[in-house]
Amino acid sequence: MSINRIFENHNIIYDELAYGDPNYMGSLIRAKGKTIILVNTDIKNAGRINFTKAHELGHFSLNHKGQQFECSRTDMLDSTRKPFELEANQFAKEFLLPEQMVKSISMSAPFDFDTIKSMGNEFMVSKLVAVFRILDFHLGDYAVIGSNHGVITQVGMSKSLIGRVNLLKLGGLIDNNSFAKECLISNLRMNGYSTIDPNTWITRNMRGSTISLKEYSRADKSSGSVMTLLKVDFK
Ligand SMILES: [Zn+2]
Repeated sequence: MSINRIFENHNIIYDELAYGDPNYMGSLIRAKGKTIILVNTDIKNAGRINFTKAHELGHFSLNHKGQQFECSRTDMLDSTRKPFELEANQFAKEFLLPEQMVKSISMSAPFDFDTIKSMGNEFMVSKLVAVFRILDFHLGDYAVIGSNHGVITQVGMSKSLIGRVNLLKLGGLIDNNSFAKECLISNLRMNGYSTIDPNTWITRNMRGSTISLKEYSRADKSSGSVMTLLKVDFK
């Protein structure tokens, strides 16, 4: 069912407006017996607008207490510390990328930019939402690190990697010797994984066994953002 139909079925008034504030994403407002969802369309990106709609529907469906939720860009990141925002993000991810539709492809598809892009296009979500959802199900030892102007903004890993390695932390800086940095400052465009010193990204190897690491990064120079895919091999 489309999200707009769900809004109608619950008598939710939905409106879009360009607010001129890139940090404001959307709101859920409860007033005089009415529920209103507003979405900021400053950035005309279908994936971003879809995620915001689903996130606000999350506040509604999960019965979060409060008259008004004003959700910012940081509220929509998995790194947010606010429990309601985390729950709304999880709801949005599951709503837009339902398990029964994405699990089997995520489990075994190559963990690369083609898979991420095709899932993003098929389900009209950003590449970042797609890659985190793939990691929910992928059976391989993979991770993703998002960075902006060299500062780490997102970190995620597949279930099989959790508890086996620690990666660089949110707010930290990417290594000058990483391919990510190279992609950001030169014209390097990677077309697959390349071997890299594990210490570039991994801060701790809990198992102590020898590991090797491969990196596959792509930069968007206009925004300064880089998405880095990592493949860990345990020997
Ligand atoms: Zn929110």
